[in-house]
Amino acid sequence: RTHLYLVPTPIGNLEDITLRAIRILKEVDGILAEDTRTTGHLLRHLDISQSVRSFHIHNEHRTVAAIVERLKAGEVLALVSDAGTPGISDPGFLLVRACLEAGLQVECLPGPTALIPALVKSGLPTDRFAFEGFLPHKKGRSTRLKALAEESRTLVFYESPHRVLRTLQELADVLGAERLAAVSRELTKVYEETRRGTLQELHTWFTQHPPKGEFVLVVQGKF
Ligand code: SAM
Repeated sequence: RTHLYLVPTPIGNLEDITLRAIRILKEVDGILAEDTRTTGHLLRHLDISQSVRSFHIHNEHRTVAAIVERLKAGEVLALVSDAGTPGISDPGFLLVRACLEAGLQVECLPGPTALIPALVKSGLPTDRFAFEGFLPHKKGRSTRLKALAEESRTLVFYESPHRVLRTLQELADVLGAERLAAVSRELTKVYEETRRGTLQELHTWFTQHPPKGEFVLVVQGKF
């Protein structure tokens, strides 16, 4: 019997939720959400009435123990994040680990996540890739970039609009301006767009077209 379900939710287009995700969200005893308002909006759209409790990065450490106790007492819960798959650049890992240590059953439903569509439509090799999530903002950033310069797998990064230009510039500096890359923004949304080119070309493009929305950067590996 499953105690905790990790349930992926849409990354933009509300049609991107599976039939199984809808059923599980209805059947569980409660939902743990990164942002109760965002999840409330989704649940109303799906016509699901459920109790939603907050579970976000600021209280993740503190609340994990309490949640494990509820699960041990017999409650079945679902964890969702604001968008995509919980645990992928979102809270989830600490709770999963604590559940497994406590002997509880954890299931993760397959579903939306931004990295896979960005990788697949980049046109870069998909047979081997390294998901790097968000680069560190300050401490450890240049060390991480240097370590990645020798990586032969396709690299996938998440980025916020106000850091895209800086990241493209630094990737060009450290990995080489001629590396091929693809930048996807607003995946599954109305203004979805993917641009492909060298890191230098993409940097030039986004200098002229100020970045807006949510971004995934995909960069060719070294060969
Ligand atoms: N858990 C999510 C997942 O499975 O993809 C990721 C959450 S992380 C906090 C948010 C980042 O994911 C954004 O900054 C962006 O890099 C990426 N992202 C999420 N939705 C996206 C979208 N619709 N288009 C492009 N990137 C997106």
